[in-house]
Amino acid sequence: MPRPLAFDKFRDVQSELGRSGSAIFRDAQGSENLVIRDPYAIEYIHSYAEDSPFFLGLAEGKLLGSRCTSGSCGFRYATPRSNCMVCGEPTDWFELPKSGRVHSWTTCHFGSEAFLSETPYNLALVEFDKVGSLLLGRLKDCTEPEIYVGMPVVARFTDRPKYRITDVWFVPDQTHR
Ligand SMILES: [Zn+2]
Repeated sequence: MPRPLAFDKFRDVQSELGRSGSAIFRDAQGSENLVIRDPYAIEYIHSYAEDSPFFLGLAEGKLLGSRCTSGSCGFRYATPRSNCMVCGEPTDWFELPKSGRVHSWTTCHFGSEAFLSETPYNLALVEFDKVGSLLLGRLKDCTEPEIYVGMPVVARFTDRPKYRITDVWFVPDQTHR
């Protein structure tokens, strides 16, 4: 049995795993790491419970935030939240604007298995006018050197919803250029 093929790039290791099921990853220090493909499947039944309107909203092209129902507080969140973090009162839903700005961002050169093939990709914390918290999402259609804090972005929604946070992402807002 020949030794598995060796590669310097993990992307090439992944390709080889798809072909033969094993490969050697030669890391920056020259160590040879045997990597094997070992698939397993798990079905996870997950209830969004009180967060459900947020994910149903994504399928309709809406971003729903949570607003504290206390008249003296009224804190507005960019994410689902059943009770106010500031005063503890219940919240109700409101529609966030589609447009926001990059508050902070990062470019990921590694990711969990589901996203590994899409690296490098950008994640941004997006801020909205008159909203007190941030929404984390993918930032597409731009590369690392083009992104800056305060950059106007606009939400895009999938037309094939899977009821996941990846049903929404952001792109540069061309109307601000
Ligand atoms: Zn409150």
